[in-house]
Amino acid sequence: MVRHGFLLLLALTGCACLLTLPRRDSARALSLIDVGQGDAAYIQSGGAGLLVDTGVPGSSADLSAPGPVSALLVTHLERDHAGDAAKVIARGNLAAVFWNGRTDAPLHGDVARAAGAAGVPLVALVPGDVLRVGDVRLEVLSPGPGYRTSADHNDSSLVLRADFPEFSALLTGDAPAEVERLLPPGPADVDVLKLGHHGSKTATGDHLLDLATPALALVSVGAGNRYGHPAPEVLARLEGRGIPLLRTDEQGTITVFWRDGELRASTSSAR
Ligand SMILES: [Zn+2]
Repeated sequence: MVRHGFLLLLALTGCACLLTLPRRDSARALSLIDVGQGDAAYIQSGGAGLLVDTGVPGSSADLSAPGPVSALLVTHLERDHAGDAAKVIARGNLAAVFWNGRTDAPLHGDVARAAGAAGVPLVALVPGDVLRVGDVRLEVLSPGPGYRTSADHNDSSLVLRADFPEFSALLTGDAPAEVERLLPPGPADVDVLKLGHHGSKTATGDHLLDLATPALALVSVGAGNRYGHPAPEVLARLEGRGIPLLRTDEQGTITVFWRDGELRASTSSAR
């Protein structure tokens, strides 16, 4: 059960203030679900919802999503992003499962079997593909041809730009800085940036931050994780640009939405 303990108001100028306000009631929102050291985001618009990654096995992000899960997108088939995908597919009544098309990923067999058993189409995405969740438009920006078969599956993460009617967001999976450098400048310019690779120093480079110029950054990271995420180098890059950061290890599930002409974020209870 997500309890929205406080609300962070954030103007698009990057100036933030904290207020205690009632629970949000917006029908459109982007959530970063607290799954520990993994990723699970949720895009809701009206009665539709897209789960982007599932976290590690047993995360049950679909059950804690703040709305229905109509479809699943996995940025790449690694355990901390797709570890629960087979269960989510089996549990849900999904319209489709979107992925990056890598049949050599260790989890591909499990996911393909689950999708087959549930009769859910497995749809491979490439840059330029566009999905719609209610009135939210999602465009695939990466991986380009050079990274679709990289030895490091992080390179093949689907990178998504989400356009809500009032604000935009960039979800980069675990894509490293070398992939960030290939993102198209216009589409990479967003209001909300989910840090790449859980805030690893190998992602969210200066180049991306210069392109994205976000008003707010989010990171999905486990408390006391053994990787030291988010990295001090990334925190310094954000701080140097005055970009506020919300993190799931400190704020729990984070939900970003628009109300009364402002971008806002609610969080579940602080730990
Ligand atoms: Zn990851």
